[in-house]
Amino acid sequence: MNTLRTVLQEAQARGAAVGHFNISDLVLLKAVLGAARELNVPVMVGLSEGEREFVGTRQIGALVRSLRDEFDFPIFLNADHTHSLAKGIEAARAGFDAIVFDLSALPFEENVRQTKQAVEALKAIHPAMLVEGEIGDIGTGSEIHDSSPDLSKGLSTPEEAKHFVVSTGVDILAPAVGNMHGMLRSMVKGETKKRLDLERITGIKRATETFLTLHGGSGTDDDDLRRAIAAGINIVHINTELRVAWRRGLEQGLAQLPDEVAPYRILPPAVEAVKQVVESRLRLFNEKRRAA
Ligand SMILES: [Zn+2]
Repeated sequence: MNTLRTVLQEAQARGAAVGHFNISDLVLLKAVLGAARELNVPVMVGLSEGEREFVGTRQIGALVRSLRDEFDFPIFLNADHTHSLAKGIEAARAGFDAIVFDLSALPFEENVRQTKQAVEALKAIHPAMLVEGEIGDIGTGSEIHDSSPDLSKGLSTPEEAKHFVVSTGVDILAPAVGNMHGMLRSMVKGETKKRLDLERITGIKRATETFLTLHGGSGTDDDDLRRAIAAGINIVHINTELRVAWRRGLEQGLAQLPDEVAPYRILPPAVEAVKQVVESRLRLFNEKRRAA
């Protein structure tokens, strides 16, 4: 079985990106795995601290490992947005393949200092775990927002990106390149799209020569995503789009069977709704791989 590092290297060589989808229940996990298996492309599932608290850190570790083994399929597990070393150590002990160690809210040099310490501590526990660090400001919360925050001052520069990667030893960098967590109401309706700073991505890739993750991919213009992958983005995170589909699918399942109480009869429309979103995103991220 390939490791996440070799999967990322291979995706990069083929001009593809690995889709990363947040999950917090079995509906989402089934939908992500189902879509990835249908398209036969590797996939990452991620859980933030809040999502892990709901599901259980050791429990999701065991569950994803059992799926990978049973289906002999490259599904990888990421500890998304982890804000303390204690939570990171929990994830390392549970066998997570990757972690986003996110101290981007701290002053830059403090972020560098503590991320470097975390890289050392986490690799001592789980040497194969890939550690991602985060710089800049891309907002918080994979929710639906009423208005757009001003993130222009928090954009990452190639210089600080290089300094961060060299000083900390992270395997993956999450820069701020016009992306944003969550979606605006107009994006949920499909009226507006997020746009990315493609030149900035190119500059950061050239300066760091490391794996790059795009957070907050929900609601982003398709062509910008294609160009971002061509410019060096290796992982794209999608969360809010899945949450919207989950809710709509659940409402549909409940409405279709008003007297039903068996979850396994109510929930399939939710699985299907999420699966469709995952499939369309995976197709886009893997266009080059599938064309080859
Ligand atoms: Zn994120």
